[in-house]
Amino acid sequence: MVFHPDRKVFVYYAEQFALFVCPMSESGYLQELSRCVRCGICKTSCPTYLSTLNEAMGARGRVAILGELEAKHLNPSGTLADKIFSCMLCGACKNVCPVGIDIPEVIYQGRQGLKDSYKKGRFLRAATKGSISRLNTVHRALRLYQFLLYKPLQKAGMVDYMPHIASKPFNKTVQIYKNRKKIGRVAIFAGCSINYLYPDLGQSLSNILLSQGYEVVVFKGESCCGAPLRSMGFQEEAVTLANKNIEHFNRVRAEAIISMCPTCTMVIKEQYPLLTGNTINNLVDINEFFTESGIKSNLELYPSTITYHDPCHLSYGLGIRDEPRAILKKIKGVKLVEMKHPDSCCGFAGLFKYNYKEMSDEIGMQKINSITNTSADTVVTSCPGCITQLEAMKQAKNAQFKIKHIVEVIDEAMQE
Ligand code: SF4
Ligand code: SF4
Repeated sequence: MVFHPDRKVFVYYAEQFALFVCPMSESGYLQELSRCVRCGICKTSCPTYLSTLNEAMGARGRVAILGELEAKHLNPSGTLADKIFSCMLCGACKNVCPVGIDIPEVIYQGRQGLKDSYKKGRFLRAATKGSISRLNTVHRALRLYQFLLYKPLQKAGMVDYMPHIASKPFNKTVQIYKNRKKIGRVAIFAGCSINYLYPDLGQSLSNILLSQGYEVVVFKGESCCGAPLRSMGFQEEAVTLANKNIEHFNRVRAEAIISMCPTCTMVIKEQYPLLTGNTINNLVDINEFFTESGIKSNLELYPSTITYHDPCHLSYGLGIRDEPRAILKKIKGVKLVEMKHPDSCCGFAGLFKYNYKEMSDEIGMQKINSITNTSADTVVTSCPGCITQLEAMKQAKNAQFKIKHIVEVIDEAMQE
């Protein structure tokens, strides 16, 4: 098959070819998998394929494996499960597939059927599954571990970088920030990373919103968005969390529910409707919110050269790329420079970081090299997960740049 420069023509031929080689089946899932024309375009942007050059570790190979499993031509096994669970769910493949297969979605579905065959990281998966309903207990245990054991173990080279566990979860700090000059009312969907690791980012967002005249609600009844559970194949459990969040947040009287975590935002906007037929109304990403509402303050920073890293779920998942750059360009004193492949994954991808450590480190190191090659003094991103990975990789490389979430930058720029 020859790639035609006009994508529409290419899609037409691809679809005709798909109908010819892949007869339709009764199953919608198999039907979706059968649309693959094996063109391999998705491989060119798949980080796990590019890292291993193994067909089965790339998007096309995974779609083929799932198709053969669904058609009962293959039996589930640990080896096949490993190929499906090693996907980072980054979504880089989804936007380039000429026939529009939602590859991350078929992978989520495939993981449900393969979870019992997947032996790697069993303990970590069981621990994560068990922790989600007991986040406050786990938070206390991790605090204790960090206080007593982490430093000596890290010094001995026995454990990797671990972000600081907050002394108090963000959503335990306050419920409503009143504003005398109220122009509107907004709520924050913090997500587990902000609640337990980066409450200062939640505080920065509250400061910005208060200074703009909003009353801010931080909702105690928030549950995990469900992304970690769904990514492990525990769909029913993820649906339970989705329903809890939908019920809680749709009761809050607010013009917008603002999220600082692109994974939470993408899951709530894109997956909750598929899983439950409903979603949290008015949920917006922080960059979208400030682009639409504007920032009514002078923004100025001590002269700084900044490069922006696109989180996968924000750029591939939600198509938000221009908004954070537009915000950064508005700050006096900021020189924005682009790194090579700013939207390539940082290598975090939740449990992938721990179950596929070597690959995660290799992908992460490429990102660190792209950042250092710009000579920027600061890398800015919009995702707490990316911040954790960038910090770990930066320490491993002993690099010197600063790492900031965009809310931190806006908060600082309003105070200069
Ligand atoms: S979601 Fe990312 S890692 Fe998974 S198949 Fe697609 S490009 Fe590859
Ligand atoms: S880009 Fe789409 S059609 Fe082409 S190999 Fe990948 S999944 Fe199949």
